[in-house]
Amino acid sequence: MADQTPMLKQYLSIKERHQDAILFFRLGDFYEMFFDDAVKASKELDLVLTGRGKDEKRMPMCGIPFHAAENYIAKLIDRGYKVAICEQVEDPKAGKGIVKREVIRIVTPGTVIEANLLTEKANNYLAAITKEKNKYGLAYIDASTGEFKITELDSKEKVLDEINRINPAELLVSDLIDSSKPETESLGSDEKRNREFHSQVPQTSFKDTYDIENAEERLKETFEVSSLSSFGLDSVKSAWGAAVAILDYLKETQKTALNHINNIKPYHPSQFMFIDAATRRNLELVKTIRDKSYKGSLLWVLDKTKTSMGGRKLRQWVLQPLLEAEKINQRLDAVSELFDSAEMRAELAQEIENISDIERVVGRIASAKANARDLIALKESLQRLPKIRDVLKDCKSELLKEPRRSASGSAEEIIELISKVIVDEPPLTIKEGGLIKSDYDPEINKIKQAAREGKEWIARLENEERKRSGIKSLKVGYTKVFGYYIEITKSNLAQAPDDYIRKQTLVNAERFITPELKDKESLILNADERMKEMEYRAFCGVRERIAIKTAELQKLADSLAQIDVLLSLAEVAIENHYCKPEMRAVICDMRVVESRHPVVEKTLGAHQFVPNDIELDEAESRFLLITGPNMAGKSTYMRQVALIALMAQIGSFVPANEAELCLVDRIFTRIGAMDDIFSGQSTFMMEMTETANILNNATDKSLIILDEIGRGTATFDGMSIAAAVAEYIHAKIKAKTLFATHYHEITQLADKHAGMKNLNVLIKEEGDHVTFLHKIVEGPADRSYGIQVAKLAGLPKEVVKRAKEVYDKLEMVENDLGNVPRRASRVPKKVDKKQTTLF
Ligand code: ATP
Repeated sequence: MADQTPMLKQYLSIKERHQDAILFFRLGDFYEMFFDDAVKASKELDLVLTGRGKDEKRMPMCGIPFHAAENYIAKLIDRGYKVAICEQVEDPKAGKGIVKREVIRIVTPGTVIEANLLTEKANNYLAAITKEKNKYGLAYIDASTGEFKITELDSKEKVLDEINRINPAELLVSDLIDSSKPETESLGSDEKRNREFHSQVPQTSFKDTYDIENAEERLKETFEVSSLSSFGLDSVKSAWGAAVAILDYLKETQKTALNHINNIKPYHPSQFMFIDAATRRNLELVKTIRDKSYKGSLLWVLDKTKTSMGGRKLRQWVLQPLLEAEKINQRLDAVSELFDSAEMRAELAQEIENISDIERVVGRIASAKANARDLIALKESLQRLPKIRDVLKDCKSELLKEPRRSASGSAEEIIELISKVIVDEPPLTIKEGGLIKSDYDPEINKIKQAAREGKEWIARLENEERKRSGIKSLKVGYTKVFGYYIEITKSNLAQAPDDYIRKQTLVNAERFITPELKDKESLILNADERMKEMEYRAFCGVRERIAIKTAELQKLADSLAQIDVLLSLAEVAIENHYCKPEMRAVICDMRVVESRHPVVEKTLGAHQFVPNDIELDEAESRFLLITGPNMAGKSTYMRQVALIALMAQIGSFVPANEAELCLVDRIFTRIGAMDDIFSGQSTFMMEMTETANILNNATDKSLIILDEIGRGTATFDGMSIAAAVAEYIHAKIKAKTLFATHYHEITQLADKHAGMKNLNVLIKEEGDHVTFLHKIVEGPADRSYGIQVAKLAGLPKEVVKRAKEVYDKLEMVENDLGNVPRRASRVPKKVDKKQTTLF
């Protein structure tokens, strides 16, 4: 270590404190990375890996120009890395010895607030989990908007489900939850979902030093309150530590005040319809199962929002349907009012389209990261307010009244302030001047004037000096290093006036200055520097004055986002011919006329989708057994029932002609067999685990969708389980249920149990050919037409022919046995061996 250069020593001591981040070490106009960081970054960013020093002492390094850093940082963050940005914090010319350097910011996936590092229509959450006795505390924040939520959960499964819903960009885990321990206790057990979240979310473990008293003090200090009851935090004590961990982490990484984090909202998952990860996936709420794409999801159909903040809010609504009829009806009434007025929709759309993401702009203003363009965006958005308020002035719906109540006085003040100070088209950077209006500050004006005069003097100089010296090729120029100069080619040197002072020699020319030029140069450069400095200060002053209004602006942004969402739901309802559902808070029948699947309908195109009624009658048809051919539309129908229930509870109209619905407390789905090699569980085991979850948690207010139960095992085992599950749900749980099966024998259950009903899907059969009519009708089906569907799918003719032969034999055996259920895995004992050689 003795031969370490001072710079290397400095690097190592800084790196020591930022082990888990890639250190961007500023050297002149570059950020350099060394050692392992360089190896990693060169791979991830496709940079050339070079080295400093010789042989074994050679240290790997790579670098990027400082002005291009943002793109490189974005890439690293996207891949889950943290980046510590180390700057020179003193003027290299001023100090003696090595320049002082400090990490001024650590950019991490969960703490970014810069627009170019964020996805517009999705929140970017940082979450933290703590454990307090038997309870788990969960807190999460979107640092770009200031939304800060906190809750308490009583099981690890619930934590995982919430984490899955929130989908954080980064997770802080208390060291009390040892994620390396294999016990079920820990969040790191070998369960599928854990693995998912382990591999997807960058995690940092933190020392859990926040006992409840300690955390309470910290939170009181942060939010400047004498009691946390004022935020309603008493019921979420075990999550206080998680909230403080988040605040500490933000402080450590951002290194600036975060004034927009001025509120924390407790919530209980029970306030919202709980949707577990399987159901969220099965119903394809925000992404499709097959390719995880947004296109093809429910959100894709519903999202016609015009602002990013509206897009984020709609996403939250889709993932958290409501449970209170009153709140649901408030939303439905607002959508209805917009639905009924084309004029209001058109006028609102025109205004909202021009509103920026002020939620995030306000976040950047409050944390002193906004630039002048942000302020102009805020101003232009606020200028739309009077018109929006005017359009909504006669509205009856409570939610549509909200923008009329928020920030009216402040908005005008802010518009006036920004209009007075900031130029209409400011540059991106705030330290290079050019952002303050010319008549704002007389001091700035004077300096600008002096600089302008100096520059004009120089502009005239070339002509004057040409005349004075008689040298036609004389040039006046400027370089960053040498400043202003007068250039004369070597052949004309003899004519150079006496007062020229030699400054620089080139191959063919000499560069000079004059005492007067030197004076003007320092005047211009000083004036430039001072002007930039004063403009920057003026800008910061404006930004700070707006920051005082953060809470009000956040509320306004929220109400505008809500208008955007309601407008989007109304537009979608008009475009797709949805109807307003009638919602009942008590358990009652569910009747929907001519219902459609919102996504399949959209993808098939106009009038291609065959609508079907839904009738879940408490007395007659609470439990629907659905049989029918493969490909007939059973899954589509069941999902459409679930989606209609869910859409209504987010406040959306539904794809149908009429709908009478009752509130459901949960939607459970078990759909298809999904192999999950990561889970370490077999397909059948997964299926049974999911079924157990439903049987243990569903209530008489739930809606259950079971698409094939017992398929991953022998026919008899599967069929027995399917029948027992159906009977249990029907008799004990009494939830509204749709149960699709290819075990046609199960349809007999409907004869035995009142309230169970058989449905099947119509097809047209012509010889060997089947046409799917997609029409749901009453009664059981007796065949699945699997072989016909296999033929349609293009199985080789020979295989189809052989399948038919085997099928016929199986049918014969069954008839001989007097209609005993078919079974593929065992051969009935009573049957003659010759007869039973099936294959
Ligand atoms: P399987 O038993 O093989 O799982 P299924 O009966 O569940 O089949 P679905 O997957 O629901 O069949 O539907 C198959 C296809 O039929 C869908 O992809 C869709 O394109 C089309 N379809 C389903 N329902 C309708 C409908 N009501 N109108 C028009 N097309 C439909």
